[in-house]
Amino acid sequence: VRRNMNGQSQQLELGPEVWAALACPDCGGELAPGAGGVRCAACGTVYPMSGTQPDLRLRSDKHVAVEAVVRPYPRGGIRPPARPRPIPFNSSAKVDIHPEKLAGALLSGNGLTRELASWFPAGDKTGLALDLGSGNGRLRPIFELTGFQYVGLDVEGSEPTVLGLGEALPFKESSIDFVFALAVVAHTTNPFLTCKEIARVLKPGGWFIGTTQFLEACAMNSRHHVTFNGLWDWLDSAGFEILHVEANADWSGIRAILQMGYLPSRFGLARGVAAGVDSLHRWWARRRLMPETTPVGEMAPERFAGGFRFVTRVAASTNST
Ligand SMILES: [Zn+2]
Repeated sequence: VRRNMNGQSQQLELGPEVWAALACPDCGGELAPGAGGVRCAACGTVYPMSGTQPDLRLRSDKHVAVEAVVRPYPRGGIRPPARPRPIPFNSSAKVDIHPEKLAGALLSGNGLTRELASWFPAGDKTGLALDLGSGNGRLRPIFELTGFQYVGLDVEGSEPTVLGLGEALPFKESSIDFVFALAVVAHTTNPFLTCKEIARVLKPGGWFIGTTQFLEACAMNSRHHVTFNGLWDWLDSAGFEILHVEANADWSGIRAILQMGYLPSRFGLARGVAAGVDSLHRWWARRRLMPETTPVGEMAPERFAGGFRFVTRVAASTNST
């Protein structure tokens, strides 16, 4: 075990609970720090360490068979409710983040809201919360309000606790209490597999909360922007109990596309043009001039939103695999 500047072993630096949760992303075997990095006891793969950060990205192709259920039509079992609904503030919230505590970047776009955060679970210091797609760790202060140990995972960078892939999470089954993913799943190559992986690593009753992109311009090599129905398919096929899905009312598709795509770095202009188009859209909806597939007099945000937010959990009694 190499030691850092303070003389602590890397194992202690990461915390014993984190080390206990880590597993080989390829075979699921036990990992132990050894010569030249972290070694899988089962398949022998050695993963590099950079400082205290294990690089648990796959070292070679992993072939995964994803089981899919094709249901008879109409697809009663996986049909979402007709409309998304605004996520209510959780009256028994364990975590209440006042807006001034949220950094501006988190509140804008497809970001975090006080209502969404009110569904965050709370835990003791032994439980783990996974910040999936953690980037520079900007969400860490929010995670720390939950009382869980923070584990940031991303595909690159020096800030994440661990490097890894959403499609091959380097954690054991039922090892994580809470996964939060802010506009991340759409960046992975197979969102169905990523959602199954999240369900696999969550403990029974564990929470998966996040946001995802719909009518946003493609950013940072995102891949699978998804409709309301499609998001429901991702979550339902992975076995999640879906408590809430809302269309992001403050982030219309036209605003998202203008701000992120057509008029980048002209946020004021983009916002102004979007406000005009959105106003016209609302007027149109009130005048009942919308297509007949749109409920009369409603804006049907699921058809025009930049993204969605969701609150889900795995069943408490059975372990989803
Ligand atoms: Zn292995």
